[in-house]
Amino acid sequence: GQALSESEAEEIAMMFNTLLDIVEETAEVSESTPANKEGKVDPEEELKEFWKKLYEEKEDKLVERAPVVTIMGHVDHGKTTLLDNIRNTRVAEKEAGGITQSIGAYQVNYEGRKITFIDTPGHEAFTEMRARGAQATDIVVLIIAADDGVMPQTIEAYNHAKNANVPIIVAINKIDKPNANIELTKQQMVAKLNLIPEDWGGDTITVPISAKAGQGIDELLEMILLVAEMQEIKCYPEGLARGVIIESKLDKFLGPVATAIIKDGKLKVGDYFVAGSTFGKVRRMIDPNGKNVKVAGPSDPVQILGFEEVPDMHSILYGVKTLHEAREYVEKKKELEEKTVQKRHIRLEDALKMMQEEGEQKILNIILKADTFGSLEALKNAIAKLQNPEIELQVIHGGIGAITKSDVMLATASDAVILGFRVKADSSAVKFAEQERIQIKRYDIIFNLIDDLKKALQGMLEPEE
Ligand code: GDP
Repeated sequence: GQALSESEAEEIAMMFNTLLDIVEETAEVSESTPANKEGKVDPEEELKEFWKKLYEEKEDKLVERAPVVTIMGHVDHGKTTLLDNIRNTRVAEKEAGGITQSIGAYQVNYEGRKITFIDTPGHEAFTEMRARGAQATDIVVLIIAADDGVMPQTIEAYNHAKNANVPIIVAINKIDKPNANIELTKQQMVAKLNLIPEDWGGDTITVPISAKAGQGIDELLEMILLVAEMQEIKCYPEGLARGVIIESKLDKFLGPVATAIIKDGKLKVGDYFVAGSTFGKVRRMIDPNGKNVKVAGPSDPVQILGFEEVPDMHSILYGVKTLHEAREYVEKKKELEEKTVQKRHIRLEDALKMMQEEGEQKILNIILKADTFGSLEALKNAIAKLQNPEIELQVIHGGIGAITKSDVMLATASDAVILGFRVKADSSAVKFAEQERIQIKRYDIIFNLIDDLKKALQGMLEPEE
């Protein structure tokens, strides 16, 4: 990789140093500055901004990093088997006598190139991460069992990945089974996901595999590297680190521990850092092979010891220069948390007003759950016909069955309203929606649902109660 010159390193260090001062001084908050009602600036938002600027200014210094991959799909379609197969057959070095325990991610070396796999299958974690602005995943492998085809959670996983703009590779699994039907699975990809396999003239890379027999895994890894190359996954390789926390817990013996995937820079033992609303100093880092490491770089997963408190899952870890900076960050965070009013998500009855005010978002995102495939299609068609010059209605996810927590997470990540037609909402979904202030509206009559949407588009819908 390209090393940073001394002056550049110094410049970055200085920028970091002045960062919190700037936060302090920004009493008059400009409109674009993230601030709450009291005009306090969120130091986390400032760090985010800082990195955004750094990326813009140092575009020519960005270098490629290894792809980070998440495997998603319907339950029992083989996520765990695939993850295990890749880990067991491709992880070269195992600590002699060491106990390898999962830290939530691992890294393989294939044809001299690294690939990082996130070990926690499930699109909920994936979308929760995005809701917090922490995209950990570069590529999604959507696994579909060839003896079962496209199932509800396949569609759900696909919609989550699509909404996050993450490229998708389809792995058709269990091809060793006598009742495997690859052709039928591809037909369903087209019909239910609108994904056309490459060999059918489309652009969706589709790899037939058997996770159990280890068949097709090489091809899958090759395709991952190919997609990574096309995506040009970049990082800023030097200086203070930035990473995404994918797991965190309070360990009985070790205290607060978390696994982060480093996205930029280097995290070293002894470094100070902030994450979410806590901070720490790296006391020890453990790689997925159970080995102590002194330095972790881009795309490396490491378990980190040295947090003051357990950090929020999926928060972003930033290396900072001094303990003072870290402390100041946390103080500001705590102050802010006490005062901050929760961000409001979109509601049908004031969608028009909110969009006119914001002047930006012209799309009203809708998550639609219905009792049958037929009613879902009918509703989608009816919604597509509703026109308004100021707002576009977009069904970002349509599914059959009850409204779940996963739907609410997607709504949080995409700022959407959830409409249910002749379906219930899980109690966990209701609770989470209240917490996240996501609107769920349920209907039993098609006319009422469409009528409400029409009124919302005209700004004439009465608020509930
Ligand atoms: P997950 O729920 O997606 O993590 O699915 P699992 O990996 O737990 O797999 C569910 C079941 O399918 C297990 O009994 C696996 O042994 C089996 N399975 C997974 N992959 C294959 C495969 O390629 N071929 C066959 N025959 N069975 C598989």
